[in-house]
Formats: sequence, C-alpha cells, structure tokens
Amino acid sequence: MSFVLGLKCRECGREYPPEALHACEWCFGPLEVTYDVAAIAAFTSREAISNGPRNLWRYADFLPVETKFPPGLGAGFTPLVKADRLAAALGLGELYLKDDTRNPTGSFKDRVVSVALTKARELGFTVAACASTGNLANSVAAHAARLNMESVVLIPDDLETVKVLTTAVFGGRLLRIDGNYDDVNRLCAELAGEHPDWAFVNVNLRPYYAEGSKTLAFEVAEQLDWQLPDHVVVPIASGSQLTKIAKGFAQFVETGLVSAHDVRVSGAQAEGCSPVAAAFSRGAEHIAPVKPSTIAKSLAIGNPADGLYALEAVRSSGGAIAAVTDDEIVDGICLLARTEGIFAETAGGVTIASLAKLAREGVIRPDERVVAYVTGNGLKTVEALADRVLLEEPVAANLDDVSRFLDRTVAHEVLV
Ligand SMILES: *Cc1c(COP(=O)(O)O)cnc(C)c1O
Ligand SMILES: [Zn+2]
Repeated sequence: MSFVLGLKCRECGREYPPEALHACEWCFGPLEVTYDVAAIAAFTSREAISNGPRNLWRYADFLPVETKFPPGLGAGFTPLVKADRLAAALGLGELYLKDDTRNPTGSFKDRVVSVALTKARELGFTVAACASTGNLANSVAAHAARLNMESVVLIPDDLETVKVLTTAVFGGRLLRIDGNYDDVNRLCAELAGEHPDWAFVNVNLRPYYAEGSKTLAFEVAEQLDWQLPDHVVVPIASGSQLTKIAKGFAQFVETGLVSAHDVRVSGAQAEGCSPVAAAFSRGAEHIAPVKPSTIAKSLAIGNPADGLYALEAVRSSGGAIAAVTDDEIVDGICLLARTEGIFAETAGGVTIASLAKLAREGVIRPDERVVAYVTGNGLKTVEALADRVLLEEPVAANLDDVSRFLDRTVAHEVLV
C-alpha cells in the first residue's frame, strides 16, 4: 500500500498515472510524484517511524512503492555526526555532517536506486539501466545483482578506476562511452526510446528515483530529535538531490511530524562545472550549460536537468551557491579527514570547501544549526590525493632508525 496519487507535471500541472513516465506529453516538463499528504498525516507517527527498519524504508509512507519491506542492500539511516572540531576550524557553531559515505556502495545514490528499482520491479521490469557519473553505476550494478535483475550501465570513459572496477565486479553490462556525461546522458535518452522495456533509473523511472533523496531530509529531522536544522549545504550535480531535500523537509512539516521552521538551503559546486552557481551569482533565470572540467567527476553534469528547480529552492530559502576550485576540493577532503576522521570523495570535498567558503563570507553564520551532506566515500577517488598526501621513505626495522624518524617528523598537523 502507498499514499501515491499519481504523477504531475511540474510546469503545467497535468496529471498522469503512476507508471514509467517522466516527461509531460503536452509541455515536456518533468513529472513528479504526488501523495495524499492528509492520509499520510493521519496514518504515520514518530513512534511508528522510530520502530521501523534501520534503513530508508522506515519512511516508506513517504515513498512511491507498494511493497512494505522491499529487498535491497539496506541503504540509508546513515549517521548524523556532530562535527565540533570542523566547526571550530571554520568558526561555526553547531555543525553536523550527514555521513552518506556509509551507504552499501559508498554513496547517497543507494537511496535513489533502491527506490527506483523497487518501483521498477513492481512495474514488472527485469532490466535496470542508467547513465552515470560513477556512483550511480556502482549502485545500479550492485542492486541489480541483489534483486536478480540484468543491468546495463553507461559511463563516460574517463571515470576514476575504482568506480569502474567496483561497477564491473557485479557482472552486468558496462558500456564505457567515448564522451562526457552529457554525451552519455543524451545517448541514454535515445536508448530509452529503443528499449521501453528497460528501467532507466534516471530516465523513465526518474520521478521515483528522485523521491529517494527525500530520505536525506527525513533522517536529519529524526536524528535532530524531530527538529529541522537552520541551514543545510548540499552538493549539486543534476540538482535533484537538493530539490528533494527541500521537499522532504516540507513534507515532514505538512504531516505534522516536525514544527514549521525555515531551512536555508545552500548548494555546492566545483568551479570546473558550476552552471547553477554561475546562474545564482548572475541572478539569472536560466542556466547556461558548460563543458565540465573538474576532479569532482561525480558532480560533472554540464547541463543539469533539475538545475532551475535547485536554483529556485536555494533562492526561495535564502541560501546561496558556492563554487570551489579543485585545490580547494582537496583541501576540503583533507580538512574533513583530519578534523573528523571521515574520508570523503571529491564531491564531499566540494561540500566541505563550499561550507568553508560560505562560512568565510558570512552566508552561513555561527548562530545557525548547520548540516552538511557528505555524499560519497573517499576510497572511490584516491587519485585526487596523489600529489597531496606524500609518504616518507620506508624506515629500517630497528629502534635507532625509528627514533631518528620520530625526531625529524612532526606528530600531527594541529588544526584547531
Ligand atoms: C550524484 C551525486 C550527487 C548529486 O546528485 P544530483 O541529485 O544529481 O544533484 C552528489 N554527491 C555524489 C557523491 C553523487 O554521486
Ligand atoms: Zn506539462
């Protein structure tokens, strides 16, 4: 049982049945899942959620699937970590990190994929497909293996080695395309036309896929003891995650699970692919596509499908969007690791560097309760550290050499 009413066009409001559809037939606007919110409010409670499974299905009433406890990899319900040392380093007050490095395949994409593929199975699909900047590839291949589906995954050929290997290991079909993500995505849209019997998680299943990101908001609210934060910082690739985090907070307020509270939503992009940040700083009403060039490959979408909606969510909430350089991204990865013991991928570096920048600029204030979303695991992008984390020569296995080594090196870079 679900509380889904159907799909609705974000632009013209026309309604559609909850099937594998993603674009409005009239205006080509994106379709979004709608719910009977009053019925959810009457049915759900803090107690019921608290007693639910320790994964994202504890919020099943807010998700577009019929199956009560679907099989999967157990995505979600990741730790919310209070980050006092990082807060002190940045001159902030109450700071938390949503540590989504701890998902089954090491990124937040496990949330969106478990929702999309659960829905796909309910609709009778047996093939899971996607275009990916890396993390989606990992997650689709892994979930397909677990759910007994075939997978067809398309990626740009210049991805990090680990992301390619940890997709291939699951045994589906992996196509490395000579082109960037925007080329791969265009190709995928064409392929979806040829194979309407395949569940493309980010094409024909996109409305369901996107809903999975709301759980990033629900968990934060529950983990803050049923309160909303003052300010969140969210990385932007297509802009879907940021948009849905804002929607998640709104749905918790609408259903009475938390009191109404304004949440400022700020975005984070890499300067080498910052079309949404550029539109924000220009005050523009449209997004000019760019050709990506950044080490943050998981965020390298030059023509973001939900960019305008993300921009609107940021503006209407009183947030801002930062863009940070590749050097600042690596600084962000190192600062996070050295203050909090969390190793994030380049997208996490983008979030932390943007958090630092917005704090420096006074956009994020020390009197705010802030949550930064760390969305991917550092083991996936070790290349980024190649000329930054330098190793000493090996030391001979005797006490004299070890003592000399200890004498000439410092114990720890003191940050705070
Ligand atoms: C895909 C991805 C994002 C951003 O997702 P969008 O919803 O496309 O904006 C953020 N972080 C990581 C690690 C990702 O893989
Ligand atoms: Zn429409």
